[in-house]
Amino acid sequence: MIYMEGKLCPQCNKTKQLKEFYLTNNKSDIYHCYCKTCMKKNQTKYRRTNGYNVSNTSQKNSNKVKLELFDILGGAKCILCEITDVEVLTFDHIDNDGIEDRKRGLNGSYMSRYYRIHPEEAKKKLQVLCFNCNRKKANYYMAFKRLERFNIPPF
Ligand SMILES: [Zn+2]
Ligand SMILES: [Zn+2]
Repeated sequence: MIYMEGKLCPQCNKTKQLKEFYLTNNKSDIYHCYCKTCMKKNQTKYRRTNGYNVSNTSQKNSNKVKLELFDILGGAKCILCEITDVEVLTFDHIDNDGIEDRKRGLNGSYMSRYYRIHPEEAKKKLQVLCFNCNRKKANYYMAFKRLERFNIPPF
């Protein structure tokens, strides 16, 4: 039987054969600290907790701007249902005047970049909602507008 030298993986706390570890470019420590299984696990966990699978710099920057704008508005959390999944969160125009912003060219990531450098204006005009609550709010808003037109009190 061939004797195989093992190495302890501090994450799963198992001694595994050296072929279970990835090689590094480092001469003093040619094997990675964690075993292949744990490294793969960490990678997917990392992607999930970050919410994005960031592949290029401009995408990374626009996510950064988005996260900073969430912070300005009190955190990445839907103010209605309190969901914190950044992938479903959006910036909602409190007075439904998003069309005004689009008229002055504030679309998508350009809008987040503008409001990040105008935080006071952002706090007055924007709130954090998830897509569901955003949709619901739009429906109620339309209903409200219609009632207003017919002069019927909403409640
Ligand atoms: Zn391991
Ligand atoms: Zn919500």
